[in-house]
Amino acid sequence: MAAKALIHSVETCGALDGPGLRYVLFLRGCPFRCIFCHNPDTWTLSGATQKTASEVLEDILKYADFFRFSGGGVTLSGGEPLLQADFAAELFGLLRARGISTALDTCGYVDITDSVAECLRLTDLVMLDIKHLDRARHFEITGKPCDKVMRFLNYACENGNTVRIRIVVVPSLTDSPVYFEALAKYLTHYKNSIELVELLPYHDMGKAKWHALGLEYKLEDTPAPAEETLAKAEEIFGRYGFGTLRTKR
Ligand code: SF4
Repeated sequence: MAAKALIHSVETCGALDGPGLRYVLFLRGCPFRCIFCHNPDTWTLSGATQKTASEVLEDILKYADFFRFSGGGVTLSGGEPLLQADFAAELFGLLRARGISTALDTCGYVDITDSVAECLRLTDLVMLDIKHLDRARHFEITGKPCDKVMRFLNYACENGNTVRIRIVVVPSLTDSPVYFEALAKYLTHYKNSIELVELLPYHDMGKAKWHALGLEYKLEDTPAPAEETLAKAEEIFGRYGFGTLRTKR
C-alpha cells in the first residue's frame, strides 16, 4: 500500500527554500528540538493531513508552469522530511519522471536506510542544515549530537548529491569568526559537492509559536546578527572558495 505523508502545511509558491519558485511541502515530525526553531508546530504528528504521493502530485502539477518559468521545483521540508522517507522517495520518483526538480531540506539526523538512499538518489538538491560542528554545542542547540549529521553529509557527497549547506547565524551560538573558519575548513573536504553556503540570519519570528505551544523560548533576548557578522561569514567562506547566499526567512 502507498505510504501516506503526515503533512503539516504547503506553500505553493515559496521563494526561500531552494532555487526559483517552489512548491514546499512541510512534513510533520522532527528528531531535533532546536532552540531557534521557527516551526515548532511541526514537531508533533497530531493534526496531520494525510495524503499519498499521487495525491500530492496532483496538487503540485497545478503549479508546474511556475516551476518551469522560474527554474523552481518542489522542496520537501518540515520538520524532518526523511522521517517519512518512503513517501519522500515515492514522490520524488513521480516528480523526476515528469522532469520537475526536487530539493530536500533536511537536518541530516537519519540513518541511511534503503528508503533514505533511494530518496537521495532522486534528489536534485540537498539542503543540509548544519546546526553546529562541536558535539556539545550541537547538543545544546538541538538536543542531539552531530555525528549522524556529519555521516549524512559524507554519504550525500560521496554518492553524487549536490549539497547546499544552511547555517542559522545566531549571536553567541553560531556567529564567531573562529566557528565560521572551522566550518569552512571542515567543508573543504566536500568542496566538489557543495553548491554554496546559505546564511540564515537568526530572527525570533517563531517565538509566538513557542509561547502558543506553552514552550519556553530560550532566546528571548537574542538579537538578529549584525551586518558585520554576516559580512565576516561571507568573507571567510569566500576565502575557502565557497559561494554564499543570504536568505531571510
Ligand atoms: S531541525 Fe528544523 S524543524 Fe527540526 S527543530 Fe531544528 S529547526 Fe526545527
